[in-house]
Amino acid sequence: MKHPRSTLIGSLCFGFIISFAAVAQSKSEPVINLYSARHYSTDEALYSNFTKATGIKINRIDADDAGILVRLKTEGASSPADVILLVDAARLWRADVDGLFQSTQSALLETAIPAQYRAKQTTEGETWFGFSTRARVVVYDKSKVKRMDVDTYEKLASPANKGKFCVRSGSHPYNLSLFGSVVEHLGDKAGEEWLAGLVANMARKPQGGDTDQIKAVASGECGFALTNTYYIARLMRSTKPEDIALFERVGVVFPNQNTSGTHVNIAGGAVAKYAPNKANAVKFLEYLATKEAQNYFANGNNEWPTVASVKVSNPALLAMSGQAGGAFKAEILPLSVIGMNQVKVQQMLDRVGFK
Ligand code: FE
Repeated sequence: MKHPRSTLIGSLCFGFIISFAAVAQSKSEPVINLYSARHYSTDEALYSNFTKATGIKINRIDADDAGILVRLKTEGASSPADVILLVDAARLWRADVDGLFQSTQSALLETAIPAQYRAKQTTEGETWFGFSTRARVVVYDKSKVKRMDVDTYEKLASPANKGKFCVRSGSHPYNLSLFGSVVEHLGDKAGEEWLAGLVANMARKPQGGDTDQIKAVASGECGFALTNTYYIARLMRSTKPEDIALFERVGVVFPNQNTSGTHVNIAGGAVAKYAPNKANAVKFLEYLATKEAQNYFANGNNEWPTVASVKVSNPALLAMSGQAGGAFKAEILPLSVIGMNQVKVQQMLDRVGFK
């Protein structure tokens, strides 16, 4: 399934129109201007419940992570953005380093969200907060591939797996972050060899989104593929007979359970550097850490809540982590490391011909 994102140009034009209206309205009616890279229809209820509870209207602009960062830089100090939501840890880190966020002091957020899912604390508070997590896992064709042959990221590049690997574009943030983490664990030389091994093992050129990879594994075109967990969970929870049949052919592996742990990424948010409605923006971030909002992430988009006290009841999440023997072991690596590795990894991808 392709993400229903606006094009950058489309959202820029549309956004400027909304922005003027929003700024004009902000004198009379409480608003926030939200720039969001979340592309999940289940988030609608999340936003409307916030407005119901607080009376604060949300003007939402949708674009992808990269589009939002370009837009914030272009708008500079005249940006109407109050809250930024991004769906990749490295992009959150980049935006922070580029000075696009401002610090938020919130005892509520600091108490609710574990330190590993927040930006580094300074005297002025913290910039970004992670509100949900997703793991990047392997799906494989149970009839053709043995689980033990794909149970680490390293094995995906093994010569024994030639002609079996499918993946979306290597430059997609989900992949750049995963590759940044693997390169950190392996070192530069072995990391680049690993990427070259992945290219050598491809069943087809990188294409489509994560759901397309799962479907291609189920159809027999690919032996195994990389995907974020929420795309699997959507299929697991589907009542459509074709999705149920599709999922029966596919096994799920949380890689590296005996070593570094499975790579986990974050969706999170921050108050924009020049937010005209800062107090409302902080209220919105605090709302995202409430039990109600956290349950939307868990049940609506099948992500793991970052607030530890929120118990997951989503059957697909429980079944998936059950395949990994209950709670799975997640990688612990500073997000700044993954962020800093992005440029290096992109250059490696270019050298090894990973499109
Ligand atoms: Fe996605």
